[in-house]
Amino acid sequence: MNKDNAKVAIVTGASRGIGAAIATRLAEDGFTVVINYSGSAGEADALVEAIEAEGGHAISAQADVSDPTAVARMFDAAQAVFGGIDVLVNNAGIMKLATVADSDDALFDRQVAINLKGTFNTLREAAKRLREGGRIVNLSSSVVGLYQPTYAAYAATKAGVEAMTHVLSKELRGRNITVNAIAPGPTATALFLDGKPQAVIDQLTKLAPLERLGQPEDIASAVAFLAGPDGGWINGQVLRANGGII
Ligand code: NAP
Repeated sequence: MNKDNAKVAIVTGASRGIGAAIATRLAEDGFTVVINYSGSAGEADALVEAIEAEGGHAISAQADVSDPTAVARMFDAAQAVFGGIDVLVNNAGIMKLATVADSDDALFDRQVAINLKGTFNTLREAAKRLREGGRIVNLSSSVVGLYQPTYAAYAATKAGVEAMTHVLSKELRGRNITVNAIAPGPTATALFLDGKPQAVIDQLTKLAPLERLGQPEDIASAVAFLAGPDGGWINGQVLRANGGII
């Protein structure tokens, strides 16, 4: 049993980047946090230590979100250790960019497996298990709307995530559970920065009227709003957190 009776949040892909900032913020807000990761065990365990050092509660949980058995096992473990689950943040994701003509099957299939099916896998478990009053926050992207060249497969997975957000918010009628999505714009993490020439980064940095890149903490603040008491009347919505690019 969760010793403080704190609400319990699973954050997928929380070892690095935006997910790590979300886990840190939710722990600061009093949630007990399950820090999911697929490969970065060292970073996930370091984050658990950092949260505990600040007086928060967290555990790490390895599970590739594209594997439905592993996802079910993670939910089983969280329920067994903490007695229940209140919040799911579907943050795990990858981005592989290429024009449609240059995209191979692996590029398409891997993004669908992690971003779309991975989100479905955790949503299915959450739909069955989340406690009354729970919250689900999915990570989409502002590329749904911008639709730039080279983003076809990635944007398609995120458009699918938005579709599932709307549908599930209605399916959970009567349980006082909200389902929303946050759609970040360019945010300073490995997913965005790796492999981009500096000139492209500079150009995308200036795209927003606020003229800077998003920081992981900007996105964590928006997630914390939807997961916390002030976000309770927001349901079935997509909130673009991007400094105004679209
Ligand atoms: P990131 O820095 O690359 O971090 C990705 C995280 O996802 C890591 O913790 C990684 O953990 C985890 N992950 C990857 N594949 C996984 C899998 N199969 N199962 C479980 N965990 C997995 O990415 P980010 O920028 O923080 O992105 C987080 C989310 O925001 C993604 O959904 C992304 O599409 C979305 N987003 C990002 C931006 C941006 O500009 N950064 C903009 C819009 C939307 P391991 O290392 O352990 O695999």
